[in-house]
Amino acid sequence: MNPWLLTYDGFAPAQEGLREALTTLGNGYFATRGAVPESRADEVHHPGTYVAGCYDRLISQVAGHSVENEDLVNVPNWLPLTFRADGGDWFAPGGAEILTQRHTLDMRRGVLTRLLRTRDSRGRITRMEQHRLVSMDDPHLAALTMTIVPENWDGTLEIRSSLDGRVTNAGVARYRGLADRHLVPICGHAAHGVIELLTRTATSRVEIALAARTTSAGGRRRTGVEESASGDDQAVQEGWVSDERAVEVRAGDEVTVEKIVALYTSRDRAIAESEAAARTAVVRAGSFSSLLKRHARAWDRLWQRARVTAEDAEVQQILNLYLFHLLQTASPHVAELDAGLPARGLHGEAYRGHVFWDDLFAFPFLAPRFPDITRALLRYRWRRLPEARWAARAAGHTGAMFPWQSGSDGREETPHLHFNPRSGRWLPDRSHLQHHVGLAVAHNVWQHYRATKDTAFLAGFGGELLLEVARFFASIATCEQGRYAIRGVMGPDEYHDGYPGRTEPGLDNNAYTNIMTAWLMRRVLDMIDLVGAEGVSRQEIDLFTGMSRRMRVDFHDGVISQFEGYAALEELDWAAYREKYTDIRRLDRILEAEGDTPNRYKVSKQADVLMPLHLLGEEGVGEILTGLGYEWNAEMAARTVDYYLARTCHGSTLSAVVHAGVLARLRPGASQPFLVEALNNDVKDLQGGTTAEGIHLGAMAGVVCLFEAQARP
Ligand code: BGC
Repeated sequence: MNPWLLTYDGFAPAQEGLREALTTLGNGYFATRGAVPESRADEVHHPGTYVAGCYDRLISQVAGHSVENEDLVNVPNWLPLTFRADGGDWFAPGGAEILTQRHTLDMRRGVLTRLLRTRDSRGRITRMEQHRLVSMDDPHLAALTMTIVPENWDGTLEIRSSLDGRVTNAGVARYRGLADRHLVPICGHAAHGVIELLTRTATSRVEIALAARTTSAGGRRRTGVEESASGDDQAVQEGWVSDERAVEVRAGDEVTVEKIVALYTSRDRAIAESEAAARTAVVRAGSFSSLLKRHARAWDRLWQRARVTAEDAEVQQILNLYLFHLLQTASPHVAELDAGLPARGLHGEAYRGHVFWDDLFAFPFLAPRFPDITRALLRYRWRRLPEARWAARAAGHTGAMFPWQSGSDGREETPHLHFNPRSGRWLPDRSHLQHHVGLAVAHNVWQHYRATKDTAFLAGFGGELLLEVARFFASIATCEQGRYAIRGVMGPDEYHDGYPGRTEPGLDNNAYTNIMTAWLMRRVLDMIDLVGAEGVSRQEIDLFTGMSRRMRVDFHDGVISQFEGYAALEELDWAAYREKYTDIRRLDRILEAEGDTPNRYKVSKQADVLMPLHLLGEEGVGEILTGLGYEWNAEMAARTVDYYLARTCHGSTLSAVVHAGVLARLRPGASQPFLVEALNNDVKDLQGGTTAEGIHLGAMAGVVCLFEAQARP
């Protein structure tokens, strides 16, 4: 087995979405799913190209309410390239029979290859080979080549190359019925083998310009409509342009078509306007082979800095795949952008391309190797500090309250309602109460600082982020009987969003939030020691010091309580639920469909109490807890881990990563099943269909970190 290659044979409609997501090619600026070039969106195919930071808001009607959603926009599809044999049908899904097909993702060079043999209704067999890349060298360029060989027919081979702006954000079945038309066509042209399409997003008014230069070689006499272009009014109004060419072929001839594409938006720098920029770039770009050379060299440079090795070839293949997708999303080109790290990569539309806390799992790997990238991701947060400050003020607090889901301008993008496909009901979504996202921002600041030792960063915007998050947590905490409490929040376990019988949402004294708040206060004090206390008052320093020593953490039965009152919750009959439903990862949906709620039970979606152990290690947690005046020892740590292990259903891909990490340090033998699960999360789509809607970037990065930690002496 070659650990650099990921191969899919044949065509399996039910697996196509997964294959598309896992063979996505990208360069941090944009990414394109591995959809077959001749496909349009349908039940099986979900072509998608997403530009980092390119969002658009639309209003939809849901369950009698108007809701506004901001989506990472599926921009026009640059892939369409197809052929027809001697006046037959254009090669398209559902048409000609697929005799053999093989997709191979070469992760070392970032190239997706497709080999195909197809037979049409008249028995004509055609062989095809395609190669594509999304340039890691020049982030605005992509390219696709197609070589066609008629095996048993002579006649006219026609080729059509298009840019399709009729696409919508239709990639996630659950979101259908919500507004999904983000693209407004502006104009298109086709001339001299170059087609151009200009669209803009509906409300954010970002112009997206694509230009494609298509050339062909081989075959015999060119006949018929050579390079005829349909940039006609009607097509352009609908949002697509194409050009066609024809060549006479005999059985065994080879015809090679190259499509070189440039993509610019009006958000780009160093351009006059996007359409001219795309046109100029595509005219100046070289051939596929010269683009490939530079692209492969750029990947080579990345791999030199990013290798993580494993002994087992299959494990190595998965590690390469996860690193590949991490680097395609958080590539060095991100350093030039104003974009965060979307939880599902640039690989699909799940969670609408929003940025959560998941980059917390990528920072330990990225910061030491690619500090320019982690700095840029923190700049994304820093530019949105005014919004986060405003959100804190509006909620009656001080400091900065970062949103649980973040998009273009940093306002809270978490929807108010979410859909349970099991019950068919829309339900209130309270996950915006996961204020711990601010603690993740702070942790990322500290990871970046530790990796770079850049005190100027700490004295500058990094320190500002740290301080503003600390101020927020100081302002939501209340001092009760000598301890600092934080009420009305949610922890990482999203299955608990309140107490049974209590109308106000949220939980009190979530252990993760409180422990990490104590950690944050220590780091802010460290920062003040390092770079001074300019702008911080004596009272604030006293408060931070007090909170670093007196945060409240609850315990029951010799373990940390996930939150205050947890001990009083009921035990779930796990055996009965496993028996009845087999897959109980989404216990929230199961219970809600039964008219019940996880809030009544000791059940967790994912690691919550164990998160501090994952981030800080047992010693780090011990330092915090004993510093807070609590008793803590190795036995309590082990008991806490076992306790929550027995009560967690792993409804998030992050869960296996955290459990594998915590157990690897505590009880290495027990971590193996979680490591295996974490490895298989995306490659085997363990969350049942979710990878097709976008990779789980936090989990991918988390797995890489686990192996990287193992490899360290
Ligand atoms: C998890 C969150 C995560 C989000 C985005 C959710 O299912 O519970 O922790 O941030 O997915 O990946």
